[in-house]
Amino acid sequence: MKDSYLAFACWHIEGGIFTSLSSFSKDCVDCLGLTNCELCYECIQCQRLYNCRYSIDCENCCDCLFCFDCSGCNDCFGCIGLRGKSNCILNKQYSKADYEALRNVIVQSMNEKPFVDQKGRTYRYGDFLPTELSPFAYNDTLSCEIFALTEKECLSLGFAWRPPPIERASKTTITRASIPDVLPDDSAYLLREIIECTRPDETYALCPGAFRLTQKELAFYSLHKLQLPDTCPACRHKLRMQSRRPPILYHGKCGAMDEKSSRYSRNFLTAYRQTDDFKILCESCFQEAVL
Ligand SMILES: [Zn+2]
Ligand SMILES: [Zn+2]
Repeated sequence: MKDSYLAFACWHIEGGIFTSLSSFSKDCVDCLGLTNCELCYECIQCQRLYNCRYSIDCENCCDCLFCFDCSGCNDCFGCIGLRGKSNCILNKQYSKADYEALRNVIVQSMNEKPFVDQKGRTYRYGDFLPTELSPFAYNDTLSCEIFALTEKECLSLGFAWRPPPIERASKTTITRASIPDVLPDDSAYLLREIIECTRPDETYALCPGAFRLTQKELAFYSLHKLQLPDTCPACRHKLRMQSRRPPILYHGKCGAMDEKSSRYSRNFLTAYRQTDDFKILCESCFQEAVL
């Protein structure tokens, strides 16, 4: 990462600000899940975009705004599912001159008559789309994994909440402990079993308490001589996420400051708490120690 600020889980990015899960991108701000993009703002899950804003699930587009699932488009505004189009607004084709004129009128109108949500928050051109227009409930999104809120907190902020659609498994037909670590050749019987989830968190709402195996999963575990998982897919996901450091940065103090008081950086940000069992070095001391 180069010249980036508050960028998490990114690699090969330059000039990334408030950005996460992105790669091979340059000068993108407030973005999530971008690959090979440049000059983008508030885009999510896109590839090969140039100078796009507020767009989701798009690829190979440039100069597009508020687009969703568009590919190979340029100069489109508020369009969905277009392929290889240009100068469209709300999926309607315009001439280049009409497109630019109407786009400017819409942007001006968004600023003069902003959208007001049920909580009275106003959204002008340049703000992220209102949460209440999202087709997803807060607890269905990544946000809930990182910034966990209760149902009450969600509703008080005006975010939608959906009861987890998970039904508790009414029965299990086999305990995890009774499955051998080395799978026998005739393990096909496991495809018929409802296997107990040895879940680490009894209160985890997304865990149904049991899981089944698909044929491909079982073939994969057998081929690579792997043990079967102990937990259901939801618990596996949760455990994987817990092994990541959260996207939080702390103010660090260089652990080498006494010896190198002339060179240490007084302030720097680190993913590690000062109280952790690590010796944290500033960049120059780190470079000196490892190079
Ligand atoms: Zn589980
Ligand atoms: Zn230092």
